[in-house]
Amino acid sequence: LEKEKAAAGDTRAKGKIVMATVKGDVHDIGKNIVGVVLQCNSYDVVDLGVMVPYQKILDTAKAENADIIGLSGLITPSLEEMTTVAREMKRQGLTLPLLIGGATTSKVHTAVKVAPNYDGPVIHVLDASRAVGVASNLLSDSLKDGYVTQIADEYEVLRDKHANRKKADNQAAIADARTNGFKADWTDYDPAAPAFTGLKVFEDYDLAELVTRIDWTPFFRTWELAGTWPTIMDDPKVGEAARNLKADADAMLQKIVGEKWLSARAVIGFFPANSVGDDVEVYDDDGKTVTTLNFLRQQMQKDAKRPNFCLADFVAPKDSGKTDYVGGFAVTAGIGIEKKLAEFKANHDDYSDILLKALADRLAEAFAERMHERVRKEFWAYAPGEDLSNDDLIHEKYQGIRPAPGYPACPDHTEKRKLFDLLQAEINTGIELTESFAMTPTAAVSGFYFAHPDSQYFGLGRISKDQVEDYAKRKGQDLETTERWLAPNLVYDR
Ligand code: SAH
Repeated sequence: LEKEKAAAGDTRAKGKIVMATVKGDVHDIGKNIVGVVLQCNSYDVVDLGVMVPYQKILDTAKAENADIIGLSGLITPSLEEMTTVAREMKRQGLTLPLLIGGATTSKVHTAVKVAPNYDGPVIHVLDASRAVGVASNLLSDSLKDGYVTQIADEYEVLRDKHANRKKADNQAAIADARTNGFKADWTDYDPAAPAFTGLKVFEDYDLAELVTRIDWTPFFRTWELAGTWPTIMDDPKVGEAARNLKADADAMLQKIVGEKWLSARAVIGFFPANSVGDDVEVYDDDGKTVTTLNFLRQQMQKDAKRPNFCLADFVAPKDSGKTDYVGGFAVTAGIGIEKKLAEFKANHDDYSDILLKALADRLAEAFAERMHERVRKEFWAYAPGEDLSNDDLIHEKYQGIRPAPGYPACPDHTEKRKLFDLLQAEINTGIELTESFAMTPTAAVSGFYFAHPDSQYFGLGRISKDQVEDYAKRKGQDLETTERWLAPNLVYDR
């Protein structure tokens, strides 16, 4: 990179950008790609890393006399934290432009939730390929004012649209949504008993077995190569880049497996359980309640043909008199990654750093897929004869689901704490949770197992205050805290 810059004959930076993944979040592949792209285009990048508190971001921007601050985050709690950073920037008198990026961020979120809290320019950056254009506009004496005005106008329109759309939103009362919930026929249903109840730990899982279970499409998306595996390899536009990247990935995978760069650990568990309303009571073998999982129900207006789903609908109700089960898992393929990353960092090898993180993520998802397959065939064994190709697995052609707390069917990240307690996941896998319930190592997946043949993924969508109040009560948590964690799903203004 330094050589490239020197060869270009221009060692003066075009501007300085302070970047950080916000407090509570640990995901940085996207941010690091943006950083590399900006540096290749002669911008000075001060990368503060992950889990960065707002004061450190602000102090660094001041001390470095930065031209731009860039915030990144992947999990939904980071959306709130970005709003906090913007508010603090205003309070502390900053006016430099603020860029917002990362998987769960959006133009609407930036316009509606972040921009109103700050007087300087606030701009959503969709991906790394746009970052250079945005930065160069912001740092150009002739273009800056027009560009900033244009974005501000565009965001104003988005805010208006958003305000109107919310009023038009048709929500069902939570009582009606429950009446229209998914109703399985429990009378003729015999829940399958798992091969064991309690926990099973996998200390050092065979990585070679996971490689064949990798879903490659998201890998290319990480690198902003659009297309589906395997046809992407022959794509006229990105095929060559995809082939080169895949060759590097395969070479590194061989070392990851052969030289044991990473190790994989997991814990799974099965527990007797029943639903009670939108909750799922989890029992020990003596029938004593160990924990109660609180789930949320879709509240958009629907008709009887399209139920208002809640994950609790997929577990036999207590008053059915049937013992059902729920499972949980936490898997990681990221044990040991820090040592290798430190080596790459010492060699200023950004590419290998990003490649290893992306591959570790792929292996973790593959681990979740492979473990789920073994659960269906061996451990819960409700589908012992299942015989599906990797493509079928990727397209979820199996019975049962493994929803993850923080994702669309159960977007409340705080329920991950209960899952981790059930699984004793920290002790059994080494995975830790941050204050925003992000998992470290980042190459980790956790979730619940549901076996019912009709269980399916869905998106919760927007929920109303009647449900949030009820949910806060069920969780034994105050309304304000509950609303903060559910912010992206609230149909109303707090
Ligand atoms: N094959 C893909 C899997 C992506 S889904 C890959 O390799 O990236 C990743 C995880 O998200 C799943 O394992 C599941 O735990 C969770 N998930 C997917 N859709 C969900 C939903 N609607 N609600 C909750 N969790 C979901």
